[in-house]
Amino acid sequence: MKVLVINAGSSSLKYQFIDLETEAVLAKGLCERIGIDGKLTQKANGVEFVCNDPMKDHSDAIKLVIDALTSKEHGVISSMDEIDAVGHRVVHGGEYFASSVIITEEVKDAIRKCMDLAPLHNGPNLIGIEACEKIMPNTPQVGVFDTAFHQSMPEKAYMYALPYDLYEKYKIRRYGFHGTSHKYVSQRAAKMLGKDLKDLKIITCHLGNGSSIAAVDGGKSVDTSMGFTPLPGVCMGTRCGDIDPAIVTFLMEKEGLDIAGINALMNKESGVYGVSGVSSDFRDLEAASAEGNERAQIAWDKFIYDVKKYVGSYVAVMGGVDAIVFTAGIGENTIGIRQGVAEGLEFCGVKIDAEKNKNMPRGEETVISTDDSKAKILVIPTNEELMIALDTQELVK
Ligand code: ADP
Repeated sequence: MKVLVINAGSSSLKYQFIDLETEAVLAKGLCERIGIDGKLTQKANGVEFVCNDPMKDHSDAIKLVIDALTSKEHGVISSMDEIDAVGHRVVHGGEYFASSVIITEEVKDAIRKCMDLAPLHNGPNLIGIEACEKIMPNTPQVGVFDTAFHQSMPEKAYMYALPYDLYEKYKIRRYGFHGTSHKYVSQRAAKMLGKDLKDLKIITCHLGNGSSIAAVDGGKSVDTSMGFTPLPGVCMGTRCGDIDPAIVTFLMEKEGLDIAGINALMNKESGVYGVSGVSSDFRDLEAASAEGNERAQIAWDKFIYDVKKYVGSYVAVMGGVDAIVFTAGIGENTIGIRQGVAEGLEFCGVKIDAEKNKNMPRGEETVISTDDSKAKILVIPTNEELMIALDTQELVK
């Protein structure tokens, strides 16, 4: 089966066309500046193709994606009929979706109802779905939600200690994000260990510009560090992560900030960028620390400390751990962060092998714990698009 995976944003649309027989990405691309002018860039068979035809909306973008996929010179298929199904990334599924679903009118209504919870994302995601329905009315469409994997959390993990009627009225609770990634790497971890996922306690650390940690017990997410929004948890590139909630009103008063102002401060001006004043990028942070920049060092140390604290708390929550997984930009590439997080966890059977950690081949699934480590430490490149395609195939066949 060949699946088109779509990740629609407000003015952009990323796509991958995947052959699930071989799991090969036949083509991948990006439509940018939708509604402004329009630029499509596609890579297929090692060749880059750029098209500057105008895209007044997402339907125009989808049409151009299909043109690019079926183009005689740059394409990979001869007709649209070779697209067996479309898998859409949808950020927020609220409490409606605990797994991926075939898109129907009811599903679209539920996505609309979650709009309040993720206004920047769910709107564009829905526009992407409707554009595909219009252009490919006979092709099955599937929705894959960032929040779905975490719907298995127990009440005690997802409830906030606010008046209960606010949960009923606004659905204020922990949802968690990066679910597709946490699900994918936990499944891969079980494969790598040659064990049944049901028998494993895994802590997955998705560390990128946005970072979240999840406790995956028997294949089910039982807790995760992000919450009602993707703001809490460990400190991130520019997001503050966990702070005392009283700081919000304190700062609004002292700095004369309105809602947009405080939101911008916590989302865009904080995190390791805010602490260091250097950068949100861990490569810059590492270089600045090496040159003796103290604030860069504080930000680096704080990030490690935050991740370690979550890892430790999830060992406690699950009553043990069989594997810790590192994934995403930092998890896959930043040696010092992995070392820092894993060091000192010997008391719970986790022993990192510094040499393996340092010399691991980039982009490959690798074990970086010592041979005698009771729990394994794994580096697993995430692949959300493949997970979306696999879920889509599962539902469509
Ligand atoms: P996003 O959440 O935007 O998808 P990524 O998962 O791409 O973010 O992670 C970005 C982070 O990964 C940056 O802080 C960057 O410094 C870090 N990183 C470290 N080494 C690399 C590398 N070789 N390639 C890409 N990102 C890297």
